[in-house]
Amino acid sequence: MADADRLKAALQPGASLAVIGGGYIGLEAAASARALGAEAIIIERESRVLARVACPILSEFFQTFHRGQGVTIEVDAQVAALEGANGRVGGVRLGDGRLIACDAALIGVGAVANDELAREAGLTCHNGIAVDLAARTDDPAIFAIGDCTSRPLPLYDRLGRLESVPNALEQAKQAAAMICGKPPPTPEVPWFWSDQYDLRLQIAGLPFDSTEIAVRGDVEAARFALFHLTATGTVQAVEAVNASTEFMGGRRIIARRKRLARADIEDMSISMQQLAA
Ligand SMILES: Cc1cc2nc3c(=O)[nH]c(=O)nc-3n(C[C@H](O)[C@H](O)[C@H](O)COP(=O)(O)OP(=O)(O)OC[C@H]3O[C@@H](n4cnc5c(N)ncnc54)[C@H](O)[C@@H]3O)c2cc1C
Repeated sequence: MADADRLKAALQPGASLAVIGGGYIGLEAAASARALGAEAIIIERESRVLARVACPILSEFFQTFHRGQGVTIEVDAQVAALEGANGRVGGVRLGDGRLIACDAALIGVGAVANDELAREAGLTCHNGIAVDLAARTDDPAIFAIGDCTSRPLPLYDRLGRLESVPNALEQAKQAAAMICGKPPPTPEVPWFWSDQYDLRLQIAGLPFDSTEIAVRGDVEAARFALFHLTATGTVQAVEAVNASTEFMGGRRIIARRKRLARADIEDMSISMQQLAA
């Protein structure tokens, strides 16, 4: 909260914010800066924003949208240094020598699991504290939930660390069921959201092993959903922009590991209800 208050105080009309890292956090911060009347410059190391978490179609959409809102986006940009005087930042020096002047800088370049305490306790940790679907660590008296855990992702037959509120809530239910001797809850489809300007992005699932993307709706009109399909047509993930019906239907389809044909997904005369049936 204290960080958020400091950041907001820096975002006066006309002030400029350099955002290092074009992930969801960085994009949301840039959108908030614009809403408060400040300038925003996103500095991204990769060749597109959201490179780690989204497909190129979604990256392109968000880049175009943010630029339309007055955000400057520098991609393929290395940060060499933060420069300033008297304890205040005044600019970001890029690897190519250019100085991006700014009144404040925000670094949003990812997180690592805070698992030191678990490591000291001798628990198995690999990119987070290893837990099972009952939130158990390898010590029967110690449970772990939330961002700090590496957990099974049963729909995808692998382990993963999820940073989202729905994941923390799901794992809380798993731990509570185990502690109280109740049956384990049904595994949920991971889901995430991000609000930027009047765009509501909702993501269901994780696009592991997907080889094809079906585009349902109108990207230019900012109302669409991207369905990530495996080679056999199983829907692994759905990224929905202002398309809650597709998001909700997508979650049901992913939970049931349903296979769909790309042409059917893209055919708007076939309703989501029909696709999810
Ligand atoms: C800027 C930002 C925006 C986000 N936006 C979204 C969003 O829109 N939607 C969404 O689903 N998720 C969002 N997230 C992710 C979401 O906040 C996390 O997934 C969620 O808070 C995880 O809950 P948690 O309880 O695992 O961890 P936290 O909320 O991080 O809570 C862990 C707590 O444990 C404390 N702690 C750590 N180590 C110790 C220790 N050794 N002893 C005692 N206490 C300790 C920490 O100080 C902290 O208070 C966002 C995260 C950030 C940073």
